[in-house]
Amino acid sequence: MKYAIGIDLGGTGIKGGVVNELGEILIKKSVPTSTVNTEVLENIKNIIQELKEDYEIIGVGVGSPGTIDFHEGKVLTIGGNVTDWEGTEIKKYLLKSFPNMAIKIDNDANCAGLCEMWIGAGKGHESALAITLGTGLGGFLYWKGDLVRGARYRASELGHTILYPNGRLCACGQHGCTERYVGGTGLEENYFHFSDKRKTGEEIMASIDYDEFSKKTVDKFIDDLASFLVTCKNFYDPSILIIGGGVINSSDLWWDEVLEKYKEKVNAFDDMPIVKAQYLNSAGIIGAASLILNEYE
Ligand SMILES: [Zn+2]
Repeated sequence: MKYAIGIDLGGTGIKGGVVNELGEILIKKSVPTSTVNTEVLENIKNIIQELKEDYEIIGVGVGSPGTIDFHEGKVLTIGGNVTDWEGTEIKKYLLKSFPNMAIKIDNDANCAGLCEMWIGAGKGHESALAITLGTGLGGFLYWKGDLVRGARYRASELGHTILYPNGRLCACGQHGCTERYVGGTGLEENYFHFSDKRKTGEEIMASIDYDEFSKKTVDKFIDDLASFLVTCKNFYDPSILIIGGGVINSSDLWWDEVLEKYKEKVNAFDDMPIVKAQYLNSAGIIGAASLILNEYE
């Protein structure tokens, strides 16, 4: 049996685990995220050190937010909150401590998508588009058995497709990006727009029965997400479309309505299945490890 370590660098913590060839996590460790890049690198190194004690590890995969140069293992641009993460050479740093291991770094949404293709909702499909509704909106495109990274590692940055021309300013510099409207932050911004008050995404979802602004916010989210799914289908026509990320935890409140709206809006409803991701919390670790175990190049 082969074993690899998967590291998931999230907004709230660094999680790592030892994963076997079946996609099972055998042990897990996590530490809170620092906002200083040298500390983050140090933490990743320490987690690997601890995890490799009891297993013959063939390599380490790391999923990081931002645009990642997969071949150099370097962060190109970042929307996260780690100071100086942009330009960080993760692979070079880790190879100094672990010279005999394969080290691969990819974007976090790509890692989550790879997990779904391997053992989750996308298993058995030759092509898929996966979107991650977390704080923002991440995208992942899989085509004929491989993931599509793009000529400059910026493919499937679906959160930065434009939903509202000349709309809200995005951290990326464009106006009207989809993730300013659809996703955790988008929900909060919409609620503020309607009510002039602040609520977290979870609070909004929890109060739709008695807060008219929450209801309005979720209705807008449903309509916007459905429109966005139409764009996705017309661009890629994937075999399956998978939706994951933290916002899925509240999907009881909106899932069926999104599918209804999508049917109303799309030009040809010819059965592109839209399904929920199966691995929410562990997808990042498993997908990062699959970079090694499934030998993605
Ligand atoms: Zn943007």
